[in-house]
Amino acid sequence: WTEAKIKGLVRPNILNLTPYSSARSEFKGRADVLLDANESPFDTGVNRYPEPLSTDVREALAKIRNVHPDRIFLGNGSDEIVDQVTRVFCIPGKDSVVALPPTFGMYKVAAGINDVGFRAVTLQSDFTIPVEELKASWDDTTKVLWLCSPNNPSGNLMDAAVVEDLIRSFPGIVVLDEAYIDFVPEESFVPRLDEFPNLIITQTLSKAWGMAGVRLGAAYASEFIITMLRAIKMPYNINVLTKDAALDALAQPEVMQSRVDLLIRERRRLERELGQLPMVDYIFPSVTNFLLVRFTDSDRVYRYLLDQGIVVRNQSYQPNAKNCLRITAGTPEENTKLIEALRALGEAQD
Ligand code: PMP
Repeated sequence: WTEAKIKGLVRPNILNLTPYSSARSEFKGRADVLLDANESPFDTGVNRYPEPLSTDVREALAKIRNVHPDRIFLGNGSDEIVDQVTRVFCIPGKDSVVALPPTFGMYKVAAGINDVGFRAVTLQSDFTIPVEELKASWDDTTKVLWLCSPNNPSGNLMDAAVVEDLIRSFPGIVVLDEAYIDFVPEESFVPRLDEFPNLIITQTLSKAWGMAGVRLGAAYASEFIITMLRAIKMPYNINVLTKDAALDALAQPEVMQSRVDLLIRERRRLERELGQLPMVDYIFPSVTNFLLVRFTDSDRVYRYLLDQGIVVRNQSYQPNAKNCLRITAGTPEENTKLIEALRALGEAQD
C-alpha cells in the first residue's frame, strides 16, 4: 500500500472537502471570554458546545488500547461509523461493499441509505468464512469489506489467520467490527494496525462496557483514514453528557471486567440449561454475551416468549439461521425466568 493508493480509495469530493471548523478549535491559546459560538453564557454544565474531537475520551481509550489518540475516531455509536465509512469510500450509484451474512444488519442498511451496492457472501454452515468464494465476489468497484469478529448473530470469533489473509488480499478498505471483543481473551487487531494500512477496526461502549444508552463507538485506523472520518463528521457528534459518562466508565475497567465475567458464566449456564430442552435443536458455540439457538419451531417459541413478556431476537430471516433465535445473556434472575418459561412450554408439549 502506498499513500497514493489509499487516497485513491476515497471519494474525490470528500478528499477535496473543506471540513466545518469552529473558531474555538482553531484558537490554540487560553481564552476566558467565549463570544464566538452564539451559546448561552449561563453555566448549566452543558451550555457550551463540546470540544469537537473529544480529545479526553480518545486519550482515555488510547491508554486502554495502547494506540496513539490520533488513530482514534469517535462516533455516535459504531452505527454512525458504519455510515461514515460507507460515505467516505463509496461513490453513490457506482461503488459496492461486501459483507458476510448472517451478520450485523447496519452494513447493508448503510449501503442502502447511500445508494451503494451490497454484495452478500453467506458464511458457511458453521459460520466460518468461505474464503475463495469471498475473494471471487469483489471487483474494482468493491471499496469496503465488512468483517465482524466475534460475529453477530452467530457468536463465533473468525480465525485470525483468515482475517489477516483477507486484509492483505482485499484491494479496498477492510472494516473489522470488534463490538464484542471485550468478551474474548483473544487479542484485538488494534495492536497490529501498523501492519495493515487498509484496516479500520471498530469497537463500542454499548456491549461489555454497559453503555448502549450513551452512544459511543470508536474506529481505530491510520492517521490518514482518521482524518477522512473527521472531515465528514457532524461538528459535535459526541455530546458533553456522553463524554462525561464515557470518561467515568473508562476509568473503571475492573467494573467492566467483573460484569463480563458474570455474563460469560451466565451464557454458559444458558447453554447448559437450554441444551436440555426438547424444543431446542442446536446451540451454536458462542464466545460472546449471546447465544444463537436453533429451535424446532422458532416462530412458535418467539411468540410464546413474547406472551410471557420476554423479548429475544428472531434471526430466521438471515441465511443459514433458519429457526434461530438470538438470546442475550441477562441478569441471573432474567435468565432463570427465560429457562423456566421454556421448561413450562416443554412440559405443556409433552
Ligand atoms: N456492530 C455489531 C456487530 C453490533 O452487534 C452492534 C450492536 N448491535 C453494533 C455494531 C452497533 O453498536 P453501537 O451501539 O456502538 O452503535
